[in-house]
Amino acid sequence: MRKKIIAANWKMNKDIKETSEFFTALEKELNGYNGTAEVVVCPPFIALQTAAKASHGTPFEIGAQNLHYENDGAYTGEISARMIRSLGIPYVIIGHSERRQYFGETDEIVARKVKKALSEGLKVILCVGETLSERDGNITEKVLERQVNAALAGLTSEQFKSVVIAYEPVWAIGTGRNATPQQAQEAHAFIRSLAAKLFGNDVAKDLTIQYGGSMKPENSGELLSQPDVDGGLIGGASLKADSFAKIVKSLPAAK
Ligand code: PEP
Repeated sequence: MRKKIIAANWKMNKDIKETSEFFTALEKELNGYNGTAEVVVCPPFIALQTAAKASHGTPFEIGAQNLHYENDGAYTGEISARMIRSLGIPYVIIGHSERRQYFGETDEIVARKVKKALSEGLKVILCVGETLSERDGNITEKVLERQVNAALAGLTSEQFKSVVIAYEPVWAIGTGRNATPQQAQEAHAFIRSLAAKLFGNDVAKDLTIQYGGSMKPENSGELLSQPDVDGGLIGGASLKADSFAKIVKSLPAAK
């Protein structure tokens, strides 16, 4: 059975106090939760340590939202994989469309970050997804193929086992317009076929593929019940513990 992961991407939201309050609230909301989802919260860098402490002794895991591909050096304002690892947290998001769009992250930079994160023992949530004009131009699969191949080329199957892929159509992120369950399923199945070409069927069938893009309690149950949708990466609806917890609980029991 593939691991199911529901992850919160807070982006540039919440300070230290708000982070502590969130974890107190989330623990209450998910008290007694006995579903199969692994729950991961990715706060801003300044709140990682607070989140790591607050999640101690809970089932919640923590992730960073970005890293630099060098270990250390003259990169003002940047944080390395080694530094993240020193906090003892397991996950990092790489290649989010906002990083690609606003911070000039190319496929090549994303690939370097993925390799560095894995070499430091972090688990990667790799984000891929097409823009609206790419979808309208019928090149969604071409874009996904380019992004997936560029980010994963040269990894061993063993390394790839520490990668989760988040399919995040750019047109669905923060817009309130989610992909339909059918659109998500098609893209996820395609991504799994790309992984199979790179690493073989056995490895690809165990790959966790999350859907991200305006997921909320009202649409999560249907999206998460698609056969190749193994979880969610949630932005806006993850900022309130109650709506995030509802999404976690909406993961079908059989998954
Ligand atoms: C995201 O940024 O990863 C995301 C999916 O955002 P939202 O849920 O707000 O669309």
